[in-house]
Amino acid sequence: MTDKPEPVYSDDTLAIRAGFERSSFSEHAEPIMTTSSFVFPNAAEAAMRFSGEADGLIYSRFTNPTVQTFERRLAALEKTESCIATASGMAAINMLFMGTMRQGEHIIATRNMFGSTVNLMKNFLPRYGIEVSFANSFDPAEWSSLISDKTRYLYLETPTNPLTEVADIQAMADVAHNAGVKLVVDNCFCTPALQKPIDFGADVIIHSATKYLDGQGRCVGGAIAGSQELIDELTSFMRSAGPCLSPFNAWVFLKGLETLSLRMQQHSRNAATIAQWLSEQASVERVYYPGLLNHPQHELAKSQQKAFGGVLAFEMKGGQSAAWNLIDSTRLCSITANLGDTRTTITHPATTTHGRMSAEDRGSAGIRDGLVRLAVGLEDVIDLQNDLSGGLSA
Ligand SMILES: *Cc1c(COP(=O)(O)O)cnc(C)c1O
Repeated sequence: MTDKPEPVYSDDTLAIRAGFERSSFSEHAEPIMTTSSFVFPNAAEAAMRFSGEADGLIYSRFTNPTVQTFERRLAALEKTESCIATASGMAAINMLFMGTMRQGEHIIATRNMFGSTVNLMKNFLPRYGIEVSFANSFDPAEWSSLISDKTRYLYLETPTNPLTEVADIQAMADVAHNAGVKLVVDNCFCTPALQKPIDFGADVIIHSATKYLDGQGRCVGGAIAGSQELIDELTSFMRSAGPCLSPFNAWVFLKGLETLSLRMQQHSRNAATIAQWLSEQASVERVYYPGLLNHPQHELAKSQQKAFGGVLAFEMKGGQSAAWNLIDSTRLCSITANLGDTRTTITHPATTTHGRMSAEDRGSAGIRDGLVRLAVGLEDVIDLQNDLSGGLSA
C-alpha cells in the first residue's frame, strides 16, 4: 500500500475516462445497457434497494449504468458534485423548476434567450403559480432590483441565442448570493470545454446535450449539473415524474464528450474566420459574434471563455427578403433549426425559432427581419465562404 494521493486529471483525460465502471465482462469501451429493470439476488435485497438502505440499480427511469456514466463524466467536466440526465434540454429546464419550486415563488431570467425556454416561463410556469421576470443579461443592477423574498433562481443563458449577448457570470453570482438565491447558467453554447460557470460562482448548470455534447446532430437529451443535495432532490422527482434519458442516447453523448474539446476549438476557429469575413461584406449590416473586437462584451467573453464558440448571427441590409435569398442560395449549409452539429446550419430566427413571439417582443429582443443565424460546423471554411458568397452579392 502507498499513501499516494488520488491523481488529479485534466479535462482532456476526464472527457475520455471519467465515470466508467467496467462490468464483469471487462469490456474496454462503454456498453449500452438497454434494460428497463435490474434483478435482485433475493427479496430482502429488493426491499433494501427500494427503501434506500442499500445502493444499487433498480429501474432505468432513475438508475441506468450507461446514463450514470454520462452523468458522472459531465459532472467531472463541469466540476460539480453531481449531475442528472434528462430526455431533452427542455426537460432539464422544466424539471429544475417543477422538481424544486413551490407555488408563489419567482424566477428572474435573461430576456433574449432560447425561444422554448421563454415560452415555458411565460406560458406554462405561471399556471402553477411560478412567476418569471425578464431582465437584460448585461445589467446586474436590473436583476438586483427585481429580486424579492420570493425569488429562488436567477436564470442566465450566456452567450444568448441568437444575438450572442454575454453575461458577467461572476457579477450575477454575486447578485444572487447576496440575496440568498441560486444562479443557474444554461451552458449549451459554450459547453464545459469553453466555459465553466462553476468557476465564476454559478450553482446550477443546464445542458441541452442535443447540441454540442452530441455534436453530430443525432440524439435529443439534456442534463442538470449541481450540488449533490440538488441532484438528490431532482432524482426523487425523476423517479416520480419520469423525464429520463434513454441509455442509447446517453451512450451517443458519452462518445460525443470524448471529442468535445477538439470539436469546440475547431468550431470556434471556423466561426471566427466566417464572422470576420462577413463583417467585411457590403450587404451585411452587422455581425454578432463575441470573438469580434467590436462585440460589446468581447473583453468579458475573453475573460470567462476559452474561445468564442460556433454560433454567430448577422443582419442583412435588405431585411427578410435578403435573408431568405441568402438562405435559399446556399447548397452546403443546412436549413434547419438545430445547432452544435458538424454540419453548418443556417436559420432565419424571426420566422422560425422566434416565430412564436409577438412582433413587438421580437423587436425588443433585437430579432430583426434581416437577421440570419449561422451555427458554423466543421466543414472547410473556404467551402463555407464560397457557399455563402453567392447569396451575399445577389
Ligand atoms: C436547444 C436549446 C435548449 C433546449 O434543448 P432541447 O434538447 O432541444 O430540448 C435549451 N437551451 C438552449 C440554449 C438551446 O440552444
